[in-house]
Amino acid sequence: MMKSFIQGMPKAELHVHIEGTLEPELRLRFAARNGIELPYQTADALAASYDYNDLASFLALYFDGLKVLRTERDFFELTYAYLQRVHAQNVVYAEMHFDPQAHTSRGIAFDSVINGIRGAQDEARQELGLRSRLILGLLRDMSAESAMDALEQSLAYRDWIVGVGLDSDEKGNPPVKFRDVFERARAEGYNLTMHCDHLQDNSVEHIRQCLDVIGVDRIDHGYHALDDAALLEDVRRRQVCLTFCTTSPPSNPAPRRANELKSALEHGLNVTVNTDDPAYMRGYYLNEVLLNTQQAVGLSREQLTQLARNAFRSAWITREERGEFMAALDAYVGGT
Ligand SMILES: [Zn+2]
Repeated sequence: MMKSFIQGMPKAELHVHIEGTLEPELRLRFAARNGIELPYQTADALAASYDYNDLASFLALYFDGLKVLRTERDFFELTYAYLQRVHAQNVVYAEMHFDPQAHTSRGIAFDSVINGIRGAQDEARQELGLRSRLILGLLRDMSAESAMDALEQSLAYRDWIVGVGLDSDEKGNPPVKFRDVFERARAEGYNLTMHCDHLQDNSVEHIRQCLDVIGVDRIDHGYHALDDAALLEDVRRRQVCLTFCTTSPPSNPAPRRANELKSALEHGLNVTVNTDDPAYMRGYYLNEVLLNTQQAVGLSREQLTQLARNAFRSAWITREERGEFMAALDAYVGGT
């Protein structure tokens, strides 16, 4: 029953990395097309090789995987596959991070990356009625100068990008390292978000910097806001959106941070559920992650509806779009 309720509910995803949707089958296809050798020849063998136990070992896997992406066509097919898949799950809106520095540093043109992604977005809008927008993801383990370069390159596509985010390895790379970059991004009219991941050093301090120094609109992950009473109260009062990802690693199907999610809902935080990098997290997309989380901690229909509402409320969309999505959600919940 909960399964069909989740399946049918109109939903938005606010935290997914398009490179993290590279399913093993696609990775093999792109590798073959681009003449790249992979250590495994079948999707099952590739998937079985996916293992990690912390952010650093996850990132090694993620950056290794995306090396097969070389042409505009690759980025088109990657993005269209994701959009098609989530459309079948009744996701009606998606905001996708992309990491241009992970590609330009390999000699791939920024234009090839964004033109491929954008082509798929346009086709999904036309063919499926699915709307989506892009977030420029900056890599925090690279320099602030490199981030500023990527930001400046993005300006040629200003209308295609709705916000700027910060991801990759948080260790030793606090939000303040990118203060100037995000100040510039704000001046260019971008919305701002930053990752504050699980089990990092100085998590509470990093969330504090996001709020007080950077002035973010959202925080990606942000579980450790629950660790500090004053911070928790601040996040609650400001209703800053926290994009939780109650995903599961290959080694364990149990959803991570599900208890924190329930607690955040009970504290009245503006929290959402997202899939982050589904191809590396058991292939669980939004419906699977929501159901898995619901089963683990017993979320009610009201709580599931609240999660969907929070996502539409916090999405970087127009007032008209928000009204339309909320009305569809209300109609769905009222009719089931
Ligand atoms: Zn992420």
